Amino acid sequence: MNSNKIAIKKILKDDVKSAVFEALKLINAQSLFIKSNMNVLIKPNLLSPKNPERAVTTHPSVIKAVIQWIKQFNPKKIVVAESSGTNIRGLTEKAFNECGVRAVCEEEGIDWIPFEKTKLKFYKVKRPLVLKKIIASILLEEVDLIVNIPKIKTHSQCLLTCSIKNMFGTVILGNKSRIHLMFPNNGLFNAALADVYSVSQPQLTIIDGYYCQEGDGPTAGDVVKLDLVIAGYDPVALDTVVCNIIGFDAKEVLHIAKAEQKGLGSSDITKQKFLGEPLLSVKRNFKKPKNQIYVFKLFNFIYEQVIKRVPIQVIEFDLSKCKLCAICWKNCPAQALSPPKKLKRGHVPEWDKRSCINCYCCAELCPHEAVDFKRNFFSSIFMKINLSVLEKIFHLLSGLKKLLKIK
Ligand code: SF4
Ligand code: SF4
Repeated sequence: MNSNKIAIKKILKDDVKSAVFEALKLINAQSLFIKSNMNVLIKPNLLSPKNPERAVTTHPSVIKAVIQWIKQFNPKKIVVAESSGTNIRGLTEKAFNECGVRAVCEEEGIDWIPFEKTKLKFYKVKRPLVLKKIIASILLEEVDLIVNIPKIKTHSQCLLTCSIKNMFGTVILGNKSRIHLMFPNNGLFNAALADVYSVSQPQLTIIDGYYCQEGDGPTAGDVVKLDLVIAGYDPVALDTVVCNIIGFDAKEVLHIAKAEQKGLGSSDITKQKFLGEPLLSVKRNFKKPKNQIYVFKLFNFIYEQVIKRVPIQVIEFDLSKCKLCAICWKNCPAQALSPPKKLKRGHVPEWDKRSCINCYCCAELCPHEAVDFKRNFFSSIFMKINLSVLEKIFHLLSGLKKLLKIK
């Protein structure tokens, strides 16, 4: 495997299939299919249920082309899986429908599934920067090959979402919000992204640079028809190249450096072998998100002054349901649960609220539905707010802050 190969192909006259096939041939991606009957997982970006023309999600024609390319190698099974960006159940299915991806899967006769509907397990993060374990789909370890199909978009928090950030979609539903809550500091959150990527690490990345978003992405940005497909293996190099193309300094995209720190790739693009279009010929400067810095100063302020001081929630165990099966304390990522002093009916696990990171894993994993969370008014509102709505509120507040010249 030539892991330093990066192919850049222009999409001419909307012929996405040719661009995808040519880019993959240039990097010799067929060599990934070392046997027939392989199980392949495709991970697109289906952040929210949006029409493909809004460029919020991976374009269905790129996914279709990738499926058709994979089919040439006689796989046993291809499945497209994703978990959308909020903690609302059913939203991922809606995203599959509205983003046109379900239709593509059905046309091609392959499976699609929200990650949250698959069996879940805890994965240990190797050499963790901030996250020791994550709960994610068993598919990540059951398949032979993971193909990442991110989209190029600006991102109000991280500046860019592409190869590395896309794998955050393997974190199930509300756990994403909880990681945000755990790491409101931008540096730590970006370190968490690198940790997640190291668990879900794809073998191949095909970047959708067909319709992109600039400005206030990843949802409310302006659409840019960039007409590019970029394929390669090294996520750090690929995201650095994307920054180069859209006129961003890769050093400002913190998860690129964090992923490099974890040994996931190299940001030294002089070491890459470029194939296809010359890098210089495809450059197109993107507008940055307008309030990026203010949003996070404000977010940190709110977190430090308000959220950290308010008890978010209390865990309650239902005595009548708990069978002391040990699943919750054995799987608690923060070791916030321990067995009761007397291991017999009528007692429940002990909970250390100071260690608890509010990840809800105990409730998700309890086979007897004996774990309940009691939220206070503040956290109920906070947890129900869609993150993109939250971002918009922060934009508004930070605009106001700027207007009033508050430092
Ligand atoms: S997983 Fe559920 S049933 Fe098992 S010990 Fe924990 S609360 Fe009790
Ligand atoms: S007690 Fe439950 S919610 Fe808290 S960290 Fe442990 S598993 Fe997560």
